[in-house]
Amino acid sequence: MSGGTDGSLRLVLFGAPGVGKGTQAAVLKEKLAVPHIATGDLLRAAMQADTPTGRQIRKIVGRGELVPDALVSRMIEERLTASDSGRGFLLDGYPRTLEQAVFLDRLVERRGMRLDRVINLELPAAEIIGRLTGRRICGACGAIFHLRFDPPQDGARCDRCRGELRQRSDDTETAIAERLRVYRAQTEPVIEHYETQGLLTTVDGNGSPAEVTERLMQVVRALGR
Ligand code: AMP
Repeated sequence: MSGGTDGSLRLVLFGAPGVGKGTQAAVLKEKLAVPHIATGDLLRAAMQADTPTGRQIRKIVGRGELVPDALVSRMIEERLTASDSGRGFLLDGYPRTLEQAVFLDRLVERRGMRLDRVINLELPAAEIIGRLTGRRICGACGAIFHLRFDPPQDGARCDRCRGELRQRSDDTETAIAERLRVYRAQTEPVIEHYETQGLLTTVDGNGSPAEVTERLMQVVRALGR
């Protein structure tokens, strides 16, 4: 199988919260020269706004629940219309429900495109919890660190831009438990949706970030890219 005949590459990075989708996407977007589109990032940007929608999103995300399908799907449609998505994209955190998966199927079909592959990153729950509780994000450039696995040199500041490191408001133990419950109940069924379409490849998320990147690149190379 090959990537799009026009050289485009449309991938979905799928998996539970904390499996490393964001970390991997940050590397892959450079290697593959396609935009990284993460609904979590789009929502966090919307949360900054002091508007009724911003406040509503903040509450839902803080509880570890899912934002309504219609709102997220509208964001994705707008984002995929942007000109930089023409050569493909790396979707991260979307789709997260069957309804979203069907919406995406129709959206790409309407535009005469198709998804090249859905990569399901897998990791045991205990490992996920350890990764999420130690995760710290640079408030300025978005770089991701981990207190134990990838510690910043100066505990409180980003190695790259010296920005202040923060813990995400939904990386608390209560919110993590809810996010994992929501993943199993609402997101996991999406795996079968793509399995049926013959689009799914499962990749082991264990190991160092570089090891996981290499596994992902093997999948991409098998697509002819
Ligand atoms: P993430 O950065 O992907 O872990 O997303 C952070 C939070 O944003 C999630 O826990 C949800 O509350 C919300 N979110 C992100 N993507 C979606 C989506 N596709 N559908 C609904 N809610 C989402």
